[in-house]
Amino acid sequence: MKITFLGTGTSQGVPVIGCECEVCLSKNSKDKRLRSSVLIEKNDKNIIIDTGPDLRQQSLKNNITKIDLVLYTHAHRDHVSGIDELRSFNFIQKSRIKAFGNKELVNQLNKDYSYIFQSQNYPGLPQVDLEIIENKFSFNDIDIIPVKAYHHKLKILGYRINDFTYITDAKTIKNEELKKIHGSKVLVLNCLQIEKHISHLNLDEALNLVEKLDVEKVYFTHISHNLGLYEKINSILPKKVSLAYDNLKIEL
Ligand SMILES: [Zn+2]
Ligand SMILES: [Zn+2]
Ligand SMILES: [Zn+2]
Repeated sequence: MKITFLGTGTSQGVPVIGCECEVCLSKNSKDKRLRSSVLIEKNDKNIIIDTGPDLRQQSLKNNITKIDLVLYTHAHRDHVSGIDELRSFNFIQKSRIKAFGNKELVNQLNKDYSYIFQSQNYPGLPQVDLEIIENKFSFNDIDIIPVKAYHHKLKILGYRINDFTYITDAKTIKNEELKKIHGSKVLVLNCLQIEKHISHLNLDEALNLVEKLDVEKVYFTHISHNLGLYEKINSILPKKVSLAYDNLKIEL
């Protein structure tokens, strides 16, 4: 299984438009973050988690020419608003694309993107089959386990695929859901900034959560410019934890 981090930034991305902080002005490419998403390549299938506003750029940069499945975490714009870019994949693949998310996500996308999910089929629209999932399911012999979490009060999903678990925009995760993460070789977890935040884990909270989990390696994602410079923060993290960065590739 091959994982590519397509984006590792919070909703505004890094640099933030007009910001002159040291992170936004940094020359280090690891301080430049598109909106969060990952590509998972397994058994000749391409699975993408979320379709944020940078999906077009991310697909071009990483030469993605096929998407077999979209797993949605939640319906905030920084995770869904690139949904129209799926049209390009419909055109190449000459097929519809399957997408899954929880009930909250499916209801919200049906409202916010009604032109896609309405019954009359206007030519050129994204061809997406969106379905609710809440429990473990299989896609082409790939077992996928949804992990339920809360983003302040909003119910969101993370996903575990074999030994890889991806959770973003979480603030709290119940103990019974944490059990689904145990034993992962790689966990990707959101870590917004140093200061506390109402709907995201901050650095202390993310590190405390990692302490409780039986996982080999952790990458933090959904990072704000307020977390600090990549080099500075990455160097003070425990050995098994690293900051993710855009275009980082891992195999497991
Ligand atoms: Zn987000
Ligand atoms: Zn900044
Ligand atoms: Zn969010």
